[in-house]
Order: sequence, then C-alpha cells, then structure tokens
Amino acid sequence: MDERIVILGAGHAGGAAAIAVRELGFTGKINLIGEEPDAPYERPTLSKEFLSGADAEPVWLADDARWRDLNVQLTLGVSGIAIDRESRSVTLSDGSSVSYDRLILATGGRVRRLDAPDHPRIHHLRTADDARALAKAATPGARAVIVGGGVIGLETASTLVELGLTATVLEAGDRLLGRNIPEEAAGWLAAAHARIGVDVRLDRSVRAIEHRADGLKIRLDDGETLDADLMVVGIGIIPCAELAEASGLPTAGGVLVDSTYRSLGDERIFAIGDLAARTWGDGPTPRRMETWAHAQTSARAAALAILGLPAEPEPAPWFWTAQCGHMLQIVGDPGAGDTVIARGDGVRLYVRDAILVGAVCLDQAREFGTARRLIGKALAVDRAGDPTLDLRKAAA
Ligand code: NAP
Repeated sequence: MDERIVILGAGHAGGAAAIAVRELGFTGKINLIGEEPDAPYERPTLSKEFLSGADAEPVWLADDARWRDLNVQLTLGVSGIAIDRESRSVTLSDGSSVSYDRLILATGGRVRRLDAPDHPRIHHLRTADDARALAKAATPGARAVIVGGGVIGLETASTLVELGLTATVLEAGDRLLGRNIPEEAAGWLAAAHARIGVDVRLDRSVRAIEHRADGLKIRLDDGETLDADLMVVGIGIIPCAELAEASGLPTAGGVLVDSTYRSLGDERIFAIGDLAARTWGDGPTPRRMETWAHAQTSARAAALAILGLPAEPEPAPWFWTAQCGHMLQIVGDPGAGDTVIARGDGVRLYVRDAILVGAVCLDQAREFGTARRLIGKALAVDRAGDPTLDLRKAAA
C-alpha cells in the first residue's frame, strides 16, 4: 500500500493514532505534524508529577528510536494552515504542503484566556512548555491565585501547595468541578483542599489585574483585592476547529464525526481526541470528550476504520483526577442516574431503572475496576449498597 496518512496534531491522540495505524498493519507513509516543539506526550502528569518535579520528563508516547522503528515521519514546530479537500493536501506554516489519502485531525484545543493582556506572571497549563514555565515560577513561599475550580485549577493548586506555595482558587460557579463531577464527590475534594490549606472561593471572578514590580494585584468582582506572585488560569479549552471549518467540514463546537471518528462531511478525513464532536448512547446532541481515555480510544477507533477493520466495543467513558493525595475516578454518566447508591465511604453508584449508568470512587481502585465492568448491567440496589458484599454479587 503506497497510501499516505497525514495526522495534524502531534499530541496524545495524534501520536496514538500514528502508532495504532502502524501496529494494525498500515504499510504506507505516515506524517505526524505538530505545532509544539515536543514529540507526542500524555498530558495528565503536566499538572502533577511533571509540574512538581517528581518526573523530570513528560510521559512520552514513544522515544526517538521507536518513532524510527514505526517509520513515522515526525514534523514538529509546524502547524497546518489550510486544508484543500479537492486536491487532498494540507498547507503548513513553514510554507510547504503535504498531500494525503487519509487525513486525521487531532489538533485538540487551546486554553481559554481571561480578557486580560498576557503577562509573564500569568500562566496557563496545557502544554509541557506551559508546565516548565510554571514550575520555574513556583518557588516555595510564593502566593498563587488560580482562576477556575475545574480539574486543571484544582490539580495545580494541590501540586503548588505540595511545592510550598500558598494557593487561592477562584471559581465562577457555585461549586467546584461543576462540568464533570457529581456534587457530592466534588465536596470530597473540596474538603481535601481545605485540609491542605487551599483557600477556595466560589462565585468569584476576576475584575481587574494590576501589574506591579513586586507582583500582581487582583481585584475580584466583590471588590476584594488579592496579592499574588503568580496566577494560573484554568478555565477550560476552546477546540482548534477553525482549519476544519474553513475547509467546509461540518462542525458544532468541534469537528462532527460518526462513531468511527470519520468526518460527517468527508469520508477521507477523521477527527479524534478533544476536537471530535459526536453523539453518544445518551442522546442526539453531539458532544466532545476531553479525557486521556478518549484520546486513546478515538485514535484506535479511527485507525480501525481507516484500515477497514471491524470496530471494537466501546468502553464506558471514564477519567480520573489526582489531588491532595487522593485519587477520584469516574465512569459512565453519573448525571443520568435516577438513584444514588452510597456504598460505604467513597463509592457512589448511579442507577437508572436499576441499571448501573455511572460510578464515582475515591481511593477505591478495586471497586472502580468492578464498577467499570458492570456499567450497563442491572444491579440489585440493596445488595450494591452493602460494602461488605462483593459488588459483583449485586449484578443480576
Ligand atoms: P474545566 O474542567 O472546564 O474547568 C474550568 C473551570 O473554570 C470550571 O469550573 C468553570 O466554571 C471555571 N471558570 C470558567 N470561567 C471562569 C472565570 N472567568 N473565572 C473563574 N472560574 C471560571 O477546564 P480545565 O480545568 O481548564 O481543564 C482543561 C482541560 O484539561 C479539560 O479538557 C480537562 O478535561 C482537561 N484535564 C483533565 C484532567 C483529568 O482528567 N484529570 C486534568 C486536567 C485537565 P463553569 O463550569 O461554571 O464555567
């Protein structure tokens, strides 16, 4: 096969797709093109072990020798600037262009920014370079103000406190982790942050930032001012879908794809990872899924479809967050449950019509593993709520 697969975006999803197509037997050319200077790496450690210095390197998907063995042509520091679907080619920011038989878009997202000018004391955390810059600024005793009480904000606050900084978290909503974690479990993490001394302020946003020689003066919406040596903004991402949109592909907050991650507008183009918007079992509205697991599964699903291989069963979506010495794991869609089963401390099962639709576990890796396998199965509610009984025995 002398075909060429071009992958735009050399993050986790893009890198995983390159590896998957080759491992599944593709013998043609693979061009993996990324804007960042780093080879593909996984992002979860950026706000944790890599930021704290416990890991000296990001978690690479493959080392140089392996990329060579896989015969993947890696082009870094270069981005795609236009897709010509008629001639099947992509123009790159270095002035060159590359033609494709199949194109995989894995351009992910970029950080949302506050409506404020950039400043060296204001950090974001999306890339390894972002984490390197923040780690350099994170000197013990420094005062950090973190905007956004989502996963990035809270994981970063936890790591900065571990490094000896003080941390204040400003969340615009009335609770932490409102986007993806049930309220009770978010409360467990809020308590953990209080225990390590993180000052969490809800319903608060930034009105103005004054830059002084000795730091930042941050004025909040309630009139209070906070002094800070550094600020970290973790208020979500915006999918990098402009290139797809400009080429006429259908988009809706992300690039619209089917369950094999094939574009709804062009059978030669796929979109994976944070960029892909598709429907899931729970309804007709396409949604994006911004998780490590989805980077992995979407890359594999696209690779199978490109090679004409049968699709594999999809695991229930899941993710984890590690903060303040705790590990919180979530599977399925807890929000879809009509009943919550408390299974002792730290395990909550969400059922709808007696079917397990979601679970949240705090420091209960084994229970989580079982719950993952039981998603979609009928559960005897009384037995499932007894932590002394093996959860598997509660499945009908
Ligand atoms: P996020 O999870 O969407 O959280 C952003 C938080 O900031 C939300 O609680 C949001 O509140 C709040 N917010 C928005 N605008 C604000 C403002 N102006 N002032 C104060 N708070 C504001 O996004 P993220 O934490 O930045 O994470 C970025 C990406 O990295 C996501 O894709 C995330 O899934 C991924 N990530 C995942 C993990 C993990 O899986 N463990 C860890 C780190 C990062 P509202 O919801 O009310 O808008």
